[in-house]
Amino acid sequence: YGEEDHGQDYLFKIVLLGDSAVGKSNLLARFARDEFFPNSKSTIGVEFQSHKMIIDGKEIKAQIWDTAGQERFRAVTSAYYRGAVGALVVYDISRRRTFENVGRWLNELNSHSDMNVVTILVGNKSDLKDSRQVSTEEGKALAETQKLFFIETSALDSSNVTAAFKTVIKEIYDILR
Ligand code: GDP
Ligand code: MG
Repeated sequence: YGEEDHGQDYLFKIVLLGDSAVGKSNLLARFARDEFFPNSKSTIGVEFQSHKMIIDGKEIKAQIWDTAGQERFRAVTSAYYRGAVGALVVYDISRRRTFENVGRWLNELNSHSDMNVVTILVGNKSDLKDSRQVSTEEGKALAETQKLFFIETSALDSSNVTAAFKTVIKEIYDILR
């Protein structure tokens, strides 16, 4: 569970999943570099960002993978999922369709991984209060039936972004401890 690597005690691969434009790349940019891009096009080039943290005096490196926009064509490859021990399945609280597609992403994740992947359901763009189409209760209920963690975030105003990633990292660590 997790890979060994030099220079740290643990290396966890975590993948970002969800429909196009839900804010996956901006969540990662906010978490890893405290940046936000108001008009971002699909990510080009960057495969993953690494983030180090210390838990119980152990150095943990989270290697967080972002799609390069291929989710638009439902063409996320098995290489993307390979070895993942954590996942953030993201929808946009202002676009109901992206919430309805969560089940599809969970199926993809399950079919590509042979172990239990620690997964958090993330309702992003919580700052868009006036155009909300998915209630917090609906998000919570889905997470409960699917046995996932749940959080609402905003990559724009930063709320809960760190908590979303840290919940997954901490749980992975607790499982293998
Ligand atoms: P991805 O395709 O899932 O990687 O989505 P992006 O990160 O590229 O974001 C798509 C669009 O949504 C961009 O215009 C972002 O600026 C915007 N966006 C991302 N996160 C948020 C957020 O939390 N709030 C708002 N209002 N917009 C966001
Ligand atoms: Mg992206």
